[in-house]
Amino acid sequence: MGHPSVNGRIENTRLAAPSVPEQLESTLKVRYAAFLLAVCLSLTAIVIVEGWNSRQYHLRDSEVAMSNLAQTLASQAQASIKQADTLLFALVDRLENDGMEPEKFPRLQRLLHAQRGELAQIHGLFVYDEEGRWLANSNNAVLPNANNADREYFIYHRDHPDRGPHIGPSIKSRSTGEWIMTVSRRVNHADGRFAGVALATIYLNHFLNLYTGIDMGRNGVINLIADDATIVVRRPFNDAEMGTSVANGPLFTQLLPKGDSGTAVVKSYMDGVERVVGFRRVEDYPLVVFTALDKDEVLAVWRRESMLNAGIVVLLLGVLSVLGNRLIRLMRQQNNIQNELLEAQEKLIEVNHSLKLLALEDALTGLSNRRQFDVFILAEMGRARRTHTSLALLMIDVDHFKSFNDHYGHLAGDECLRKISTIITDNIQRPGDLAARFGGEEFTVVLPGTDYVGAFLVAEKIRRAVQQTDIKHIGSPEGIVTVSLGVCAYNQTAQSQPEDLIGAADKALYVAKASGRNMSVIAN
Ligand code: GH3
Ligand code: MG
Ligand code: MG
Repeated sequence: MGHPSVNGRIENTRLAAPSVPEQLESTLKVRYAAFLLAVCLSLTAIVIVEGWNSRQYHLRDSEVAMSNLAQTLASQAQASIKQADTLLFALVDRLENDGMEPEKFPRLQRLLHAQRGELAQIHGLFVYDEEGRWLANSNNAVLPNANNADREYFIYHRDHPDRGPHIGPSIKSRSTGEWIMTVSRRVNHADGRFAGVALATIYLNHFLNLYTGIDMGRNGVINLIADDATIVVRRPFNDAEMGTSVANGPLFTQLLPKGDSGTAVVKSYMDGVERVVGFRRVEDYPLVVFTALDKDEVLAVWRRESMLNAGIVVLLLGVLSVLGNRLIRLMRQQNNIQNELLEAQEKLIEVNHSLKLLALEDALTGLSNRRQFDVFILAEMGRARRTHTSLALLMIDVDHFKSFNDHYGHLAGDECLRKISTIITDNIQRPGDLAARFGGEEFTVVLPGTDYVGAFLVAEKIRRAVQQTDIKHIGSPEGIVTVSLGVCAYNQTAQSQPEDLIGAADKALYVAKASGRNMSVIAN
């Protein structure tokens, strides 16, 4: 029945105390960082997806606007040209049916002049004979020897027998010096030979004034282009670009082959700018209207919105991280307080436990102390009486211990007492036995259910064991540390109080001392 020392037990309690959970804070930080990262990624993903959708929406919106504008301008161009062409049609009919004798031209000239006055877009109406000579014109201009056989429309009709209207490249008028669009028809002799050309010219300003009134941003473009890919009207207007061919541009290479109208995002053949474009063929005439907005300008609003959104998200994340940090700091403080409380509680439990042990154990030897012995012997005497069982007590005293202390010092004396207490506990086997330090260098052993014979055997075992341990003791006649023991069996009739039993055992011990020490003596 080994007893660990009080100090040992206290030390064990301390080691078993839970350590302060310092990892908690770093765990919290890692979790918060993961949470923040997830929020960051989600928000970024949302902003990117939203941004992309909004960008597509802006582009699509502009494409629709360009498509609608192209349709409107195509209708306007068709109406303007139709008016001029209707006059031409009637003029050609008149020339072919009424003849082209010179006496008829003064009257015709007056008619052309009057008709031109009716339509604001008409710059002039002209009739040329098969040699390109001027026969009649609405402007009452008489240009002697004037000949237009070199003009593109004249050459076209001379070489092409078809009777439909022809729209030629825009030119500068020979009569007024203004930029004009030409719409012409072929005049035939009765036998179908080429008889000349009837020409209507339309002010380019008629189109340009309309085009410049439309908000197309800084870099927007409106083009009226002939089927042969030459530019007829272009906004912004530039003299040098008139008549330029855009046959290799995306309109003719990619878009028109797919359909007569549509929208797209393409890079300009003229200036390399990427544009959102709409296009549509003009009904009945070999023309295409092309409208285009600078893609960068279209996306400028979207870009501003996206930057704002991104800014808000960044701000939001900033606020989130600041709040999170504050939260972690608060939790850390709370943790610290909790840990301090825990530590204090543990210390209290420790102290309490130590106090309990101190109350029952002897601090030097770890055996039961006098207080526990007193309680125990009283209880065991009561039980022996009730159950009519035997009970025995040993009183053990170290021989010549004063001189041991004197010679080897008090610390060595303490060590010697610890060794003897270990020998005593090693030599009592029953769980119900109790070894206690009675005081000073005196020990006692309570042996329930044991009579004096058994008790004497235990006493002798202890005595011999101490002797055999061979602890040097120069002040003892034996030269080693020995003990004397008094053995007493409980006599229920003669002994009513513990003091009676203890006193009897003490007497036996006294006899042992007096008889030469290092022996066990039985009382009674
Ligand atoms: P005897 O053989 O007659 O018992 O002689 P003794 O010297 O052992 O008896 P005495 O009662 O004269 O001396 C007991 C000594 O035990 C006195 C004291 O110095 C010593 N002692 C008592 N308690 C302790 C202790 O806790 N530690 C140490 N080192 N010595 C103690
Ligand atoms: Mg003594
Ligand atoms: Mg002694």
